[in-house]
Formats: sequence, structure tokens, C-alpha cells
Amino acid sequence: MAAPVDGYEDAAKLLEALPRLGVPLASRSVASKRVVVCGGSVGGLAVAACLRRAGFESVTVLERSVRLGDGAGVGVDDASMGILLGLGVSLESLETTRWIEEVATTGETLFRAPYPYWSTRYADIRRGLAASAGNVRWGSRVVRVEKEYVVLEDGERVAYDALIAADGPRSSTRELVEARELRYAGYTAWRGTVSRPGIRDVLTFVHHESLASHGVLYDIGNGVTNWLVYETRPPSAGAGKTTASVDPREARAFQAVARSEWGEVLGGMIEATDFSEIFRTDVYDLETPLTRLASDDVALVGDAAHAVTPHAAKGSNMAIHDAYVLACAAATASDVTTWLADYSRRREADVSATSRFSRHVGRLRNQGAALRGDFEERVREVPYLALPTDPVFDPVWAVHGTSFYLDHRRRRRRRRHQ
Ligand SMILES: Cc1cc2nc3c(=O)[nH]c(=O)nc-3n(C[C@H](O)[C@H](O)[C@H](O)COP(=O)(O)OP(=O)(O)OC[C@H]3O[C@@H](n4cnc5c(N)ncnc54)[C@H](O)[C@@H]3O)c2cc1C
Repeated sequence: MAAPVDGYEDAAKLLEALPRLGVPLASRSVASKRVVVCGGSVGGLAVAACLRRAGFESVTVLERSVRLGDGAGVGVDDASMGILLGLGVSLESLETTRWIEEVATTGETLFRAPYPYWSTRYADIRRGLAASAGNVRWGSRVVRVEKEYVVLEDGERVAYDALIAADGPRSSTRELVEARELRYAGYTAWRGTVSRPGIRDVLTFVHHESLASHGVLYDIGNGVTNWLVYETRPPSAGAGKTTASVDPREARAFQAVARSEWGEVLGGMIEATDFSEIFRTDVYDLETPLTRLASDDVALVGDAAHAVTPHAAKGSNMAIHDAYVLACAAATASDVTTWLADYSRRREADVSATSRFSRHVGRLRNQGAALRGDFEERVREVPYLALPTDPVFDPVWAVHGTSFYLDHRRRRRRRRHQ
């Protein structure tokens, strides 16, 4: 495993250099419309925060949980960071992750590339967005959607002119736009965080020689490391769920073999984790990407629009990008239908390409492409790196000024126009 190269050693300087992406004011035709957001996690809270910045007068988030969840670590790309900075969200835990490395369990580096990312905790993002989201009604479960109303569990009807569905991978509102089946990827992710600093500035993927599997680790700041290990097996959470706590005996058995299976660095982190901090998330994505993200007065954002495997660290990022583009599209909208249709048109190709890329790169990793040495060549078979291409993100990529980021964007745009 190579020592981290500090191309961006000064995180504070990089943070300062990133543009704060502002939200333009919404047109008068839509700013006065009643917007209801179903789901108050990363996607729903980002929508509410962005729309309030755009000057929307009535935005209500309906979230079935009674409080914000904790979650583990999350990778945040530069576009999302520009949006969060623009919204005034400050993250308590924050580390740079400017490099990606694929390594063997022995520590040998197999592939290394620059990576425009930061890492933090889900809880920090949610807390920061909730503070800007305005009217969030916790403990409000939507049970039915009617024309111009959503109906809550207790029978209350909440009127809307525009409904933004941010109700996650098992969205019950998705079918109002386009029906899709969720596909189980065939594996579950063991996950945990441990109070130990990790390898600075590097998102590391560890490849096992014979398990046809891989693990991940990255430092999320404040001396804490986030790790994951994928295991091929049937889903472990109950029906209708994706995340499950792990029986203590099972967690200890997993920890007992971690060092021998995953090597000193990842195995050592797993071993040092408090077993009560270990949980599992089953991995799903949509069978095929949606062809549109909106219909009439309903739009989908986040996992409701594009449930995605975690291999490109894009799920939360795409949710934040969606929210920002949705708010930007309101600037020139003449009514709700054209507003949501414009949002959909501007996001469809990006989210579809990203979902496919994520599935592809997950398969390559699980099939040992990095160990065979053809990872780099094969990862480029599909649009690489999955950076958002809408021109509203151009100021972010311009900051880097290197051919790396601009090349990827140009290649993506060329493909879209072919
Ligand atoms: C192992 C793993 C690692 C990941 N790592 C990363 C990463 O590093 N970077 C990244 O960008 N992404 C990552 N992701 C993806 C990320 O977790 C999701 O994409 C993200 O949480 C999606 O946000 P969301 O708001 O769209 O949906 P969700 O987080 O699923 O939230 C949906 C919300 O809607 C609410 N809801 C649902 N139904 C109703 C209803 N009827 N009424 C009211 N409320 C309702 C739910 O309670 C929930 O709060 C990872 C995912 C996994 C599985």
C-alpha cells in the first residue's frame, strides 16, 4: 500500500477554493406553489434547503421517522460539497479523500487514481441540511397520494401543487412516474466505524484473492475510520428492509477471522471495532434506470429516482445534485409541469449512466479485475467516474483546472450527444 500522496495536503485551502454554489431565485410562477416533499433524509432535506434558498414560500417535508438517523460514513464529491457550502452547511467530521486505491490484502497497490472527494458522517450531512430545511414534520408517514393531496397515516390530507418524492429505494411514489423493481445485487455489506485514524486522503478498496469479494476503508475525520466488507449471501434484513443489526455472536465470529482474511490494515480496523457498532446493509439497485424522473406535478429525487449500488459512492451525492438542479430549474419555469420536466431532462442521462457505472465497477471488483490487472482498462468501458455534467456544476470542475476532471466531463458530454 503506497503512502498517501498529498496533492491536496491543505484541506482548508481546498475547501476555501471550492465555489459556494448559489441557488438562483425561482420564477414568480412557481415560487408561490405549495411544495410537499415525501421523505426527510439526505435527498428530501437537500430539496427543502435548496428550494427555500430559491425563495419558495411553502415547502413541507413529511418524514415517517421521529428523529434523524445516525448512519455511518459517506463520501461527498466536490459538486455536493459546493452545494453544501453554498447552503451554509458545516460538517463536524471532515477529511479529504483525494485518491482512490485498489489494493491486495497484502497491502500491494494495484491501481491508484485521483478522486474529487471528501468524507464525513451521514449524521453530519443530515443535521446540517435539516437546519436549513424549514418545515420538517417528523413522524409523518405518507400512506397515499391523491391528485393534489397526500394522505398521512392519521388521515390528515396535506395539499400540494408539486410533490417531490424522496422516499428512498423502496419508494411507494416511484410508480406515479415509472414503475420499477428493485434488484438485489447478490451481496450484503458488513459495516462499521472505529475510533482509529485511517490512511489519510485515500479511499482504499481491499481485494481478497479467493472470496470474490472486496472491502473498503476510509478516514472520516476526528480520528474515526469507516469500513465495509461485501459478502455474497441472501439478503440479511427482514422483508421490506435494507439495514439490519447483527447478532453479537455473529459479529464476534466475523471479527475473529478479519485479520487473517482481510490483512493487517482492514482486518485490524474490523478487529478493533466495538461489536455493537457493526451492522449490515443489503445492496440493491433498480433493475433498469428510469427513463424520466418526473411526470406532471410529481418528481423523484435520490434513491426514489435511482437506487444505486454503493461502489461509486454516489447515492447521497446524486440526491444532493438532484436537489440543486431541481432548484436551479425553477429559475426559468413557467409552471410546475415545465419546471419538473426541465429538472428531469437535465438529470436523466447522468443518473442513468452513474447507476450503470456503479453496477459495472462493483462487478469488476467482486470478480477480481484489480488482482488480474485489467481493472483500469475495463473500468473505462463505461462513462468513468460519474461526475455530474449539468453546466451549473462547471464552476466546481473549473477550480481543479487539471485535464483529469475536465476530460471526464467532456467525454461524458460527447457520449450524451453521440
Ligand atoms: C453500504 C452503503 C454505502 C453507501 N455509501 C455511500 C457513499 O459513500 N456516498 C454516497 O453518496 N452514498 C452512499 N450510499 C448511498 C446512500 O446511503 C443513499 O443513496 C442515500 O441515503 C439516499 O438518500 P435518499 O434521501 O434518497 O433516501 P433514504 O436515505 O433512503 O431516505 C428516504 C427517507 O424517506 C422516508 N420515507 C420513506 N417512505 C416514507 C413515507 N411513506 N412517508 C414519509 N417518509 C417516508 C424514510 O424514512 C427515509 O428517511 C451508500 C449506501 C450503502 C447501502
